[in-house]
Amino acid sequence: MSAGFTVERVEPTPARERARLMADAPFGEVFTDHMVTVRWSAGQGWHDARLRAHAPLVLSPAAQVFHYGQEIFEGMKAYRTAGGAVVLFRPYANAERFAASASRMAMPDVPAELFVGALETLVAADREWVPAVEGHSLYLRPFMIATQPTLGFYRPAQEYLFVVIAAPAGAYFGDRPMTVWLETEYTRAAPGGTGAAKCGGNYAGTLLAQRRAADQGCDQVVWLRDGHVDELGTSNLFFVYGDEVVTPPLNDTILAGITRDSVLALAAALGHPVAERPVGVAQWRAAAEQGRLTEVFSSGTSSMITPVGAVRAADGGFTIGDGGPGKVTTRLREELLGIQTGVRPDPYGWVHTIAEEDSA
Ligand SMILES: *Cc1c(COP(=O)(O)O)cnc(C)c1O
Repeated sequence: MSAGFTVERVEPTPARERARLMADAPFGEVFTDHMVTVRWSAGQGWHDARLRAHAPLVLSPAAQVFHYGQEIFEGMKAYRTAGGAVVLFRPYANAERFAASASRMAMPDVPAELFVGALETLVAADREWVPAVEGHSLYLRPFMIATQPTLGFYRPAQEYLFVVIAAPAGAYFGDRPMTVWLETEYTRAAPGGTGAAKCGGNYAGTLLAQRRAADQGCDQVVWLRDGHVDELGTSNLFFVYGDEVVTPPLNDTILAGITRDSVLALAAALGHPVAERPVGVAQWRAAAEQGRLTEVFSSGTSSMITPVGAVRAADGGFTIGDGGPGKVTTRLREELLGIQTGVRPDPYGWVHTIAEEDSA
């Protein structure tokens, strides 16, 4: 849907070179031919929507984003279905969350039609970059930054740039269970803070803990609040007690994952008792040691549904089940991937097809 977008001519990457790049791309380091940019100013609102070559942005070194961190983003994927169609997964849910993040960061609202229209325009133009390999996808990164050149910090910026870029993504960890670190010194987000907004600043503050966790042989950090589990740094957490599927209730230090929401619906549809209730760290350990807690998994766009096999903490660690991927985790993953890739029916209307005629 290029309507409203000025389309600049871009020389596409030759097919053979593209195939080579897509085959060896380390995640997030190879990008498609195009990007979308849309500008906002207090006087004009959203204007100057463009589909253009993926290229460096020209910004003033005084642009507010560099100094005061006004930045929000989204993460989602385009999939190629078994039938060859290109689809987005729940793009209106991302649009809604982007609007909520913008509101929390005092940034202008990107209307859902503009947000989804930008994604459609980019994916249609770069359709050839959507991998046909199972488990692979085209990762989409919409973001907004404050571009007004001023060091003055007396009000939110009066100029912004909304951008969408895309990067082919290979298979995530897949079935390899993660080891996670229970972080008891640092926090990711504070009550009343920006934890429920998807903003870059939340990530910057977690790098140190993430590095220390990696030094302990862990893949991810578990963020806690008052001795209860909030989430991982980039995904939400689920706990399986035999048949029951549990995740902590949303609060202002948890990012409301769209995968989390989808898993809650799928688990209920598969007949699992489903609950959103707090999970204390002490209960987590006790339930795992007693064998009542049978599986733990993470949910998020980047790594989909990934089992957690072991937990480490300053005072020792414990294993979940036999440390391998559990039945419920595996089943939910198959269901979700099946819907995303069109091999299972989509009674929820989650899959959004990119029309062929949109191709530039
Ligand atoms: C993006 C994100 C998630 C996962 O959200 P999805 O919509 O499922 O991809 C979870 N936690 C944090 C902190 C995030 O930024």
